[in-house]
Amino acid sequence: MAEPTFRAPKGTRDILAPDSTRLRALVDEFALQASQSGFGEIISPIFEDLGVFKRLGESTDVVTKEMFDFFDKGDPPQQLALRPELTASICRAYAEHRPTPPWKVWYEGPQFRYEQPQAGRYRQFTQVGVEVLGTDDPQADIDVIVLGARFFESLGLRQVELALNSLGSPGDLGSRQAYEQALIEHLEQNRSNLSSQALVTLERNPLRVLDSKREQDSSVIAQAPAMVDFLDDESAAHFAAVRAGLDAVGITYEISPRLVRGLDYYTRTTFEFASASLPGAQNAVGGGGRYDGLVEDLGGPATPGIGFALGVDRILLACDSEGVFASPRSAVDAFVVDVTGGTEALKVCDLLRRAGIAADRSYGGRSMKAQMKVADRSGASFAVIIGEDEVAAGEVTLRDMGDGSQRRVAQSLLARELTEKRTR
Ligand code: AMP
Repeated sequence: MAEPTFRAPKGTRDILAPDSTRLRALVDEFALQASQSGFGEIISPIFEDLGVFKRLGESTDVVTKEMFDFFDKGDPPQQLALRPELTASICRAYAEHRPTPPWKVWYEGPQFRYEQPQAGRYRQFTQVGVEVLGTDDPQADIDVIVLGARFFESLGLRQVELALNSLGSPGDLGSRQAYEQALIEHLEQNRSNLSSQALVTLERNPLRVLDSKREQDSSVIAQAPAMVDFLDDESAAHFAAVRAGLDAVGITYEISPRLVRGLDYYTRTTFEFASASLPGAQNAVGGGGRYDGLVEDLGGPATPGIGFALGVDRILLACDSEGVFASPRSAVDAFVVDVTGGTEALKVCDLLRRAGIAADRSYGGRSMKAQMKVADRSGASFAVIIGEDEVAAGEVTLRDMGDGSQRRVAQSLLARELTEKRTR
């Protein structure tokens, strides 16, 4: 095959059927579970004012290095960016519309990050997620985490592990500061064992050093002080309530004191879902946490919030490696073979589709043999064969593609017959 003139841009890919069918089925399953838990869908713009994302924090890689930003053609031009995640957009929407709290929303769609592509890491990828805005009740944290855990279960995934941490309350600057001080001291004392990248992060945002996945940093990180040992009373009680709720519904988790997450805005509860069936660096299939200051940062009223984002592309890789959630059958029910010119196929397909039966046909007025070959390849359960004889009698020949048996059926009864066969 000749080299194509154009390819999909680096870090992006075309997702073709049946993979696209599977992705759609996964998103549909998430939509179903989120709406069963009382969440309504939000469809927000794919691009926003760059300022919306800047509020995520100037020491976040997603903001400083990975943004797809551009100027529009306005006068003066406005600086916009493709969304790298959805929490900021949803907080912006909350500040803009002021819905009655608690506001429970779910979403799905593409996100964009200018990252170095590799297996499981793309520049355009799909996330599904939820946010609850307007309550700091730990029950909301529990509901959100349970939804995530049950979603993975429903796909058949058994090797997704939940890690949980609390980062303390932003209101309680005392314990946050005391913790940061202890952490900085520990990291400074161990400078010589840290990677050069970790040393740069240490200057900008010491907490984020804990996020390093570099082998070289792992032992220093493992010995670092833990935020949970510094929590103020209120945050400690909040964290205890979250754990008790998860215990009550039997969701297992591990307390991971070093879990700080990639984005800067998190407070109190943070969590991550990782798949033991995926390679280490790319094993996170989702994560989230509480962000009690973000809506206010975006010009809205002081509003607590909690949510998660799950990486659909990676969840599908985890499904592959666990051998679960196979592609749903996407074949049509009936394939219409018309050797009288094509108009009969047009009419019969139209009739069947209107009756809710998936039907397809071939194009180009090909021979019976050629059309039967296409019917076979289509995976349809039935071929509906129409020749001059059938047209004259107002009938079709219905062929069972499984056992090869065939018989004549009146055209007017075809839709009912196929519906009955499908439900049997
Ligand atoms: P984050 O918004 O960074 O918390 O990411 C949430 C989830 O989205 C991660 O756990 C991954 O599963 C997924 N994810 C993040 N970045 C990428 C990417 N570049 N490519 C594919 N999936 C991603």
